[in-house]
Amino acid sequence: PTHREPPRIHRLDEAVVNRIAAGEVIQRPVSAVKELLENSIDADSSSISVLVKDGGLKLIQVSDDGHGIRYEDLPILCERHTTSKLSKFEDLLSIKSMGFRGEALASMTYVGHVTVTTITKGQLHGYRATYKDGVMEHEPKACAAVKGTQIMIENLFYNMSARRKTLQNSADDYPKIVDLICRFAIHHISVNFSCRKHGAARADVHSVATSSRLDAIRSVYGVSVAQNLMEVEVSEDDPSSSIFEMDGFISNSNYIAKKITMVLFINDRLVECGALKRAIEIVYAATLPKASKPFIYMSIKLPPEHIDVNVHPTKREVSLLNQEVIIEKIQSAIESKLRNSNDSRSFQEQR
Ligand code: ADP
Ligand code: MG
Repeated sequence: PTHREPPRIHRLDEAVVNRIAAGEVIQRPVSAVKELLENSIDADSSSISVLVKDGGLKLIQVSDDGHGIRYEDLPILCERHTTSKLSKFEDLLSIKSMGFRGEALASMTYVGHVTVTTITKGQLHGYRATYKDGVMEHEPKACAAVKGTQIMIENLFYNMSARRKTLQNSADDYPKIVDLICRFAIHHISVNFSCRKHGAARADVHSVATSSRLDAIRSVYGVSVAQNLMEVEVSEDDPSSSIFEMDGFISNSNYIAKKITMVLFINDRLVECGALKRAIEIVYAATLPKASKPFIYMSIKLPPEHIDVNVHPTKREVSLLNQEVIIEKIQSAIESKLRNSNDSRSFQEQR
């Protein structure tokens, strides 16, 4: 091999660093939507609507009726590491909000054009500001506004041509966005969600706030899903092995699908847990082979110190303290639920 001189090491421009980091936080349009939905939920919104154009590449607009953003905070809103949710590292242990890093909005301004319109309680008018590369481009302009905040991202990845091309070639993100909103809607049941494609007359998701989880599932996933669900609950309070609560809805033997739907929230965060998913699939395959691709909605609550939320922003896969024990307990709860329902069914059939 030819030995060449070692290349010189130099410091990257801050703009380059920021754009690379932003591209990791906002990997595709659906990741931007997730961050915006979480911000709206953190702002105590009771109604959130999403508008999408061109799979999110032309436009993503999320409007909420939450507490809004103060005028004084608008100048630093989209800087990196500015947040209203965290002050000390220790706060992470007890954090209830979904955001805390102050990176999402900043990231969006490095890979798209961001416009924020917001009004706080008691104000006669709102303000609108636009942002680029972390910076507010001009003084906020007074404007008419109803309640809450509207965030608009235009031309996502305009400055990342490779990313834009791959996304344009692949099937667009709109179905992923709809799927994400459906998942949020059956967990945050006191919030109205809607999602519409630009130019479409009808919304593709439209959930109405309710106090019944089953009603929410019915309105989002349809009657055929909701009528074949059973509620499961586990509550463990054994400090030596595991402390957790789980409640959820799982499909019965009449629910037949081509693939599993697993909607998992841990401490109110939408996550994925491959090990738990596989464990559940195994139980179904063994107990209800004909209905082995279930619908699962599950909410797990753990002591906050048993789960590390401070993982990479895009890392939806989590691991838990005492994961094996937790999975085993959930597995056996599901198994006995399925066996009981199967037994009572064959009993009815015999009669
Ligand atoms: P984080 O959510 O981690 O704090 P973000 O970049 O997502 O960081 O948001 C920065 C800050 O902007 C938030 O801490 C919050 O104070 C404010 N904010 C963002 N979106 C909204 C919204 N929809 N309503 C009210 N405040 C918001
Ligand atoms: Mg956030």
